Amino acid sequence: MSECCDVVIVGAGPAGISAACILADHGVETIVLERGEFPGSKNMSGGVLYGHDLARIIPDFAERNCPIERNIVESRIWFTSKEGGYSLAYRDRIFEEQRRHNVFTVGRARFDRWFAEQAGQKGVLVVCGTVVTDLLKDESGKVRGVRTDREQGELEAKVVLLADGINSLLAAKTGFRPEPDPEHVALAVKEIIGLPEETISERFNVAPEDGVSIEILGSVTRGMNGVGVLYTNKNSLSLVIGGNLKDFARLRLKPYELIEDFKTHPMVAPLIKGGKPREYLAHWLPEGGYDHVPRLYGDGYLIAGDSGMLFNALHREGSNMAMVSGKIAAETIIQAIQKSDFSSESLGVYAQRLKDSFIMKDLKKYRRFPGFLQKHEDIFNTLPDSLSMAARDMLTVDGVDKKTKQSRSWKMIRSKTSRLRLLRILFNAWRSVK
Ligand SMILES: Cc1cc2nc3c(=O)[nH]c(=O)nc-3n(C[C@H](O)[C@H](O)[C@H](O)COP(=O)(O)OP(=O)(O)OC[C@H]3O[C@@H](n4cnc5c(N)ncnc54)[C@H](O)[C@@H]3O)c2cc1C
Repeated sequence: MSECCDVVIVGAGPAGISAACILADHGVETIVLERGEFPGSKNMSGGVLYGHDLARIIPDFAERNCPIERNIVESRIWFTSKEGGYSLAYRDRIFEEQRRHNVFTVGRARFDRWFAEQAGQKGVLVVCGTVVTDLLKDESGKVRGVRTDREQGELEAKVVLLADGINSLLAAKTGFRPEPDPEHVALAVKEIIGLPEETISERFNVAPEDGVSIEILGSVTRGMNGVGVLYTNKNSLSLVIGGNLKDFARLRLKPYELIEDFKTHPMVAPLIKGGKPREYLAHWLPEGGYDHVPRLYGDGYLIAGDSGMLFNALHREGSNMAMVSGKIAAETIIQAIQKSDFSSESLGVYAQRLKDSFIMKDLKKYRRFPGFLQKHEDIFNTLPDSLSMAARDMLTVDGVDKKTKQSRSWKMIRSKTSRLRLLRILFNAWRSVK
């Protein structure tokens, strides 16, 4: 059986559902195919979402009972050594008082389900438990639909939107985009730790509806190019740690060992104390950046979100890039329908519009950042430990004068990293984000 609709979307994540909502708003007949038993059942993120971009799809999302966990009012960055670390925090009254939902935490299982329901209410058909196994093409190679794992499950469409995430079996099979190299992918593990709502508010010094995000760099990744995060939910904490896939293989690290170790770090342990592990998940993240974004369009198809490697590794922004690329893809498809032209040339407008948006501008700005992290492993091993030793020495009151302490700290740091190397790290860090 071969059915026909205007657009088939592969994947009910933020990219696919955003596109579906915009298409439905314009009366375009859209089907979303999702392999999970419900939207979100196979998805994971650290847990923050961005109100500005969600509001471009569902303007009244807060009134529509979007499952917001906590409104982030304080962002912390830690630079850790094995025994401690530095902490930098920024809190802003405006995020507390105005409740603008600038950044907020969500559980993906609940959020993706809610988001797909909004699309359903607009008339989108979201079909779960269905794996897209192949792309249908005509003699000229133009994509004309998809094949699913359902019996007689071929579906024809004017355009197929591939919003199937980073771990795309479809890409591996059909080659619609190249498979990313291990060094351009991160593997992250996440544990959700249950704690009473009041305990969380007390420990993080926030009101019941407010929360904190903590980005954690340094030795917690055991020398791997990676990062840990800790986010507050209503009555749980999301603890995530990840690193470059190539580094996991090189150091023969097991993801569960990494997170178990992370939980015992002296800055993390008191915050999760007494918590009950509720869920354990693992997922990939695209981290190649601007230079590894594949061609995002072709005859009869477009690619959005993680599947197109649209992820800002420095700011941990992926869900907003997924939502906005889904929206731009939908707007491109609407124009193509008006012209009845689904060729690569017509759909290629998508790439230009992405280039004009914050997505490609930000990825371009930080294009050197992934390479910077890969080349400077000192940031994840020697540097945090020596800087911590220096702080420990300066903060220990033991009758030794500060000048002596300062010069022995410098000596110790320089015994691990030369002055030239330090200067090079600082210069390259600046260049990678300027
Ligand atoms: C550990 C971790 C922490 C993160 N933290 C954050 C964060 O704090 N903030 C942020 O903004 N982003 C974060 N991200 C990134 C964010 O989760 C992604 O950028 C975002 O989910 C991408 O959305 P997407 O719709 O492109 O892909 P996905 O969310 O991956 O959705 C793809 C969907 O396609 C489905 N699918 C795949 N293949 C098929 C197939 N063949 N047939 C049918 N269905 C298919 C999948 O089941 C899935 O539902 C994080 C990611 C990870 C892994």
